Parts: sequence; C-alpha cells; structure tokens
Amino acid sequence: MSEKSFEGYNLSDEIKRSLSVLKYENPTEVQTEVIPLALQNQDLVVKSQTGSGKTASFGIPICDMIEWEEKLPQALILTPTRELAAQVREDITNIGRFKRIKATAVYGKEPFSKQKEELKQKTHVVVGTPGRVIDHIERETLLLDKIKYLIIDEADEMLNMGFIEQVEWIIEQLPEDRVTMVFSATLPKDVENLCHQYMKEPVQIEIASTGGTTSTIEHSLIEVKEEEKIALLKDITVVENPDSCIIFCRTKENVDTVYAQLDAANYSIERLHGGLEQEDRFAVMNGFKMGNFRYLVATDVAARGIDVDNVSIVINYDVPMEKESYVHRTGRTGRAGNKGKAITLATPYEGKFIKAIERYIGFEIPVAEAPSTQEVASNQAAFDEKIGGRRVVKNNKTARINQGITKLHFSGGKKKKLRAVDFVGTIAKIPGVTADDIGIITIHDTMTYVDILNGKGSLVIQAMEDATIKGKKLRVSKAIK
Ligand code: AMP
Repeated sequence: MSEKSFEGYNLSDEIKRSLSVLKYENPTEVQTEVIPLALQNQDLVVKSQTGSGKTASFGIPICDMIEWEEKLPQALILTPTRELAAQVREDITNIGRFKRIKATAVYGKEPFSKQKEELKQKTHVVVGTPGRVIDHIERETLLLDKIKYLIIDEADEMLNMGFIEQVEWIIEQLPEDRVTMVFSATLPKDVENLCHQYMKEPVQIEIASTGGTTSTIEHSLIEVKEEEKIALLKDITVVENPDSCIIFCRTKENVDTVYAQLDAANYSIERLHGGLEQEDRFAVMNGFKMGNFRYLVATDVAARGIDVDNVSIVINYDVPMEKESYVHRTGRTGRAGNKGKAITLATPYEGKFIKAIERYIGFEIPVAEAPSTQEVASNQAAFDEKIGGRRVVKNNKTARINQGITKLHFSGGKKKKLRAVDFVGTIAKIPGVTADDIGIITIHDTMTYVDILNGKGSLVIQAMEDATIKGKKLRVSKAIK
C-alpha cells in the first residue's frame, strides 16, 4: 500500500469524511495513479485487477466532481454483471454518503418499472449492465444529456460476454463532451480499438498485475483423483478451519453436490450459481457479507463483484477453464492488504489448464501435499467447535457508514405536490437539526423517504408529530427497510 495520503487531492470535506469512516487511510496504487488525472478530466485506460481498489479510484473523483444540484444523471458506469453493478452502486453510495450522492443500479431480471421510478428521482450516478441500460435509453427513462463521465468497468469481461457492440451503441448515444475511463484486467485488441475510437488521447495506466496476486495471497495446488475430491475438500477445511471460505466449482451440478455434502455434514454453508433467481443470488451474497454463514460454494458468477471483507481462503474445487477466471476467483481473498490463501484441487488430467494459468499469472503455483490423517485428527476438535457458527464480521463498511442514519417514511409525496425542498425546509427548522443532517430524499407518488443522518432520526420523528409540511399533516415513521 502506498505511503501517500488522500489529503493532497483537495477533496471536499464530505468525501473525506466518508473515506475516514470507510477506513480508506492511504490511496492504493491504482488510486494514486488514477485520482489526480481523473480530477483533471483526463480520459484514462487503466489496466488493473479487481481487488486493487479500482472502484474507489473512479468513485472518489466522480463523487467529488458531481454537481449535487443537477437532477439528471452525470455519470454512467457500465459493468458486465448484475452483481458487479450492485457492488459498484454500493461503493459509490458509501463514498458519496455525506455529499448525498444518489446512485441507482439498473440491470436485467429486476422489474423495469421499479428502476424507471428510481430514475425519475434526482439521480447522480447510474450503474448498469449494457442490456438494461439500452432498454432505459430506448424507452427514454434514462436521459443522457448531462452525462459527463462514462466508466466502462471490466471491459475485457464485457468482451468475453459479447457485450462490446452494445457498449459501442451506448457510447454513441452519449454527449461527446465527456470524460471516459476504461478499466480492464487485460487489454485485448478489441478493447484497445474501442478506446482509440471513442476516447480523447487517453492516458494508459498499468498496475502490475502479479504484484497483488502473489504478495498477499498464498497459492497452492494439490493433486487429487476426481472421486477423492470431496474427502480432500473436507480435510482441507478441517485443517484450515477458516472464518470464511469460498469454494469454486466449474458447474452448477458440482456446486449442488458440494453443497449437499457439506450441508449434510453441518457446515454453515450456502450456494450461489446462475440457476438461482436474481433475488436469491443477492440474498445469498448479502448473507455472506453479513457473516450469516461461513462457507459459500459457487460457480464463476460469484467470482466477480463480491466484495466481502476478509475472505480467508478460496478453494478451487475445480480448476477454472479460463486462465483469467483463476485471477478473479483467487482475487476474492487477500483484498486491500489482508492476507489470503488460494488452494486449487487438480486432477491428473488438468495439467494443461494449470500450465496456461501459470503462464498467465507469471509464476508456478507451488504444489502441496494433501493434509495427513494426523493433521486432520489434531485439528478436528477445534473445527467441530466452530462448525455451525456465524462469521464474526469485524468490518462491514456499509454498516459503518450507515451508522446513525435513519430512513424515515412520510405518508405523502408527488400527488400532494411535495418536493424535496419542502421536506428540507421543514426538517431543518427543527431545533437541533440542520440541513447537513438530511440525507437522500426519495419522493414517490404517495410516500416519501428521507434519510436522517447523525443519529437524529428519533428527534425528527418526534418533532414531526406536531409539524406540517407545506401545510399538510403527514404520518411519519421509521421506514421498514
Ligand atoms: P476493488 O478493487 O474496487 O474491488 O476494491 C477492493 C477492496 O479494497 C474493497 O473492499 C474496497 O472497499 C477496499 N479499498 C478500496 N480503496 C481502499 C483504500 N484506499 N484503503 C483501504 N481499502 C480500500
């Protein structure tokens, strides 16, 4: 991690406050390179891995530069997956929390109407997957006139998933006077072409890729026969006894098998694969983040975009077929300076895949022995004690930043001709409350949500019992979610 601090960037106090609550004390390498240039509106092509702090490297300057008063979206962030879109939205919301930056995520398999409703509100940042973004543009529910920043995240993955043409179409709809930043773990020809075609003299930034992979993650490889994998997996978990662990499989079927085996052995485990409904996928991911269970068994859909603090160990139950996927999977551990372990189980026939991965990551994965019977036996008692338990979540960034924030529900909205200023005007007049204590306001037809910051929620509820907003008496209560 770099020695520099965020002080030198002249960021606004609201952003500095978020960084301090998030415990981002020093910029990571990619942030040191990207933030100063982004603040000067420079187009950038950034080669960096997930886990390097790249989201904040564009999130911080964007949140800083956004004009709060503007109602229409000013930044559009494209991501290849729904999970990543949700994660980026969360990161932007956290960074922009005290500036009251409103970020909305739009992706498929979620009702269009809900997103349309959100986009009608003041929205500063839209994060989305290409298909759904196009839908919103075509139906004019997403207006692009004020877009000043375009970020294409994980551009190589967009390419792999066949989204490049859609991305191009979107770029062509955007105002030309904008800043474009492209982030990618690798820079295949098509991505480079895209950059040359649509960017203004972009500066190329390259963050050494293996640095992050080797220095914080201990990699190892264990050879095993297919039919002995489950037994080996169990032995590894007993010996490692991790606080949190992701097990990656190649197929949905393998996920189901591993899940069934470990669940039957009372592991605290859930599973994630593309066959599940989107809502269930989010629920599982959030559950893992909150520490409701300690083991997650997943296909590659989960390899991107899950930002869980301190995953102690990643086990590749199956060798990934694509070399890039090895980096993404193992990048779930050893994040942001923490130490992590990545153990890969390989059958004797998988040598050629391992070789391809090793060429790609630039080093040989050290071969390790399977745990001995003795090792397993001597760790069994400690393992049994921890088996069903929750994970202790020490560091949930979002929970921390939301501390002291109460979401209030008011029983009136647009139909009563209420606007945000009406709420601010009334609430800021309550003794002991100022406009700085009011967060994001979302006005629907018949109800309004207002975030109250700094632990003043109850004070506002009490005061509002006798007050009116624009002459109207509204019921006010803590919002359910
Ligand atoms: P990303 O590469 O965007 O997926 O970020 C990787 C992880 O690093 C996330 O958990 C971030 O919240 C965290 N992070 C980003 N910037 C910093 C920083 N300056 N200091 C500490 N952690 C950070």
